[in-house]
Amino acid sequence: MDSAKLSVPPEVVALCNALRKGGFEAYLVGGCVRDLLISREPKDWDITTNAKPEQIQALFKETFYENDFGTVGVVTLSEDPRLKVVEVTPYRIEGAYSNARHPDEVKFSDNLADDLARRDFTVNAIAYEPATGELVDKHGGQEDIKRRVIATVRNPSERFNEDALRMLRAVRISAELDFAIETETAAGIVASAKQLEKISRERMRDELIRILMSPRPMQALYVAQKLGILRYVIPELEDAIGVDQNQAHSFDVFEHLLRSLQHAADRDWSLEIRLAALLHDIGKPASRRWSDEKKDWTFHGHEVVGARMARKILNDLRIPSEMATTVVSLIRWHMFFSDPNMITLSAVRRIITNVGVGHIKELLNLRICDRIGTGRPKEQPFRLRKYMSMVDEAMRDPISVAMLNIDGSQIIKLGEAAGPRIGWILHALLEEVLDDPKKNTEECLEGRACELMKLDNEKLQALGEKGKNRSEEEDEAEVQKLREKHHVN
Ligand code: ATP
Ligand code: MG
Repeated sequence: MDSAKLSVPPEVVALCNALRKGGFEAYLVGGCVRDLLISREPKDWDITTNAKPEQIQALFKETFYENDFGTVGVVTLSEDPRLKVVEVTPYRIEGAYSNARHPDEVKFSDNLADDLARRDFTVNAIAYEPATGELVDKHGGQEDIKRRVIATVRNPSERFNEDALRMLRAVRISAELDFAIETETAAGIVASAKQLEKISRERMRDELIRILMSPRPMQALYVAQKLGILRYVIPELEDAIGVDQNQAHSFDVFEHLLRSLQHAADRDWSLEIRLAALLHDIGKPASRRWSDEKKDWTFHGHEVVGARMARKILNDLRIPSEMATTVVSLIRWHMFFSDPNMITLSAVRRIITNVGVGHIKELLNLRICDRIGTGRPKEQPFRLRKYMSMVDEAMRDPISVAMLNIDGSQIIKLGEAAGPRIGWILHALLEEVLDDPKKNTEECLEGRACELMKLDNEKLQALGEKGKNRSEEEDEAEVQKLREKHHVN
């Protein structure tokens, strides 16, 4: 029998000990054991036991049990969010599967061996007893961890025909761990790919998101394509294979999309950017036209077609609508920063309104992914840096009387007549606030305004103009600083 000393949090050890004291067996199992064996941080802690749900509930003060799989959530006192609820599931043996989705019934078992045999992959089918350090590994999981392969427990085709989602899980787990898919398991995927049609879009979405958020989404989607399952996830991506682009690109549309996505992953950017990078040119196959004049392919309007296609793809994948809207708008406007004719501050302001202030940086990041995805080494050429500087400029609050916590109408209320004196007073106040920002309170400014109101026109105009020049200089200096920051001087 194998044994090991793995580092398990005390809350989890205590839980297992309580089950043992109650006369039951208790093992850690699944992803957490696998992760401990490869020194990876487990995402959650799963315990399996020969106790039945009611027996588990009887042993702990606070539990909940509201599912069909026998899983009882045990509430611990831990501060760590991953440990607040630890899931304890009775050993299960799976009966017949007749729909390629889930077993016809859930049956509990008294044997750990039954439970391990129903698990998807050998690396996920190792059990660990924390009190004794005993490792139960009946399917060669440790060997496969050493070989860095994902292999099904028992016959691949049979296991994929029981639950077709396992094919996508194989790709996902191999992307997360950087393991290869073992040859027979890969052949089983090729043979059973079509069964994925029966899987709900929600279950597929969850695996796809984890593939996209893994460190290697490009490799994973290549593998999914080669094994014939990508077409059941996002069929539109298959249409981009072999679609050549214009001379500025070295890769076909498919490879360009995957490379763009990979750059988003390399930069650890959000799911929104990753989805947008993956789909930004999805409209290209449908928009490609030959231009005799240019002697090259053109893709006019592909961002409009692509935004519409992305909306459908994301809806179909049950991506939450707020996220889908962001991704679609990033795709719709992704050509903006490549158009040299657009470089004006007002055009930049318009694009900020179009994508929303909260998403403009994402649009710039998408542009970076797009650029890297063409195989060009330079991520930030002058034009893009210029745009970044202008985005900062458009988003900053300019130095002007609008910054003041007082306005013209308040000064009129204090007794000043409408006319040029109002502007002079505001500019004089602005200069004082620039010298000492603490003075920018309504109370302070009203007091000073009353004093300034006593000055004659000549004195007040001089103060006002001095303040105006000063604020224009400072504003100019701020813009200059931004340009220096982006190296566009
Ligand atoms: P992670 O914790 O990183 O998400 P995981 O391997 O724990 O990875 P889960 O989806 O949490 O993945 O599943 C927990 C365990 O349940 C797996 O390790 C595996 O043993 C088993 N399992 C999950 N889904 C299936 C499935 N479709 N078929 C068979 N066993 C499965
Ligand atoms: Mg898990």
